Amino acid sequence: MSLAICIKCGARKIGAWTPCPFCGFRAVDVEDLARAMLLTDQAQSKQALKAAAKEIKQGRFELDERLLDPIVRNLKQDDKLLAQVRNLKPRKLTTVWPGFPWLLILALLTLLIILWRSSQQ
Ligand SMILES: [Zn+2]
Repeated sequence: MSLAICIKCGARKIGAWTPCPFCGFRAVDVEDLARAMLLTDQAQSKQALKAAAKEIKQGRFELDERLLDPIVRNLKQDDKLLAQVRNLKPRKLTTVWPGFPWLLILALLTLLIILWRSSQQ
C-alpha cells in the first residue's frame, strides 16, 4: 500500500482507494478512483503530493483531466478490480505501523525491569 492523499479533504492515508479515516470519503465513481490513483506517492513525488494536499484543503485543487482519461479507460475494463476496490476497509496510518508491537513489548520489559529493581532495594 502506498501513501495517498484524500481527494476530498487532503488528509494523508494509506492506499489510494481506501476510505479516508478523517472525512470518511471513499471513491466509488471510476473518475474518483482514477483521481485517487493520481494522488499517491507512486504517481507523484512527495513534494507534489504535499502541494496537492494543501490545495485540496484550500479548495482550489485542479487535477489535469488529460491524465485521468487513460486511467479511467483502464479501470472501466476491469470489473473485478472495481468490485474489489469498492469493498476495501478503512486503514489508519497508526494501525499499519509495523514497529508498534515491538515497541509495546520493549515498554513492558522496561517496566518489568524497573519493578524488579525497586523490589531488590
Ligand atoms: Zn478525507
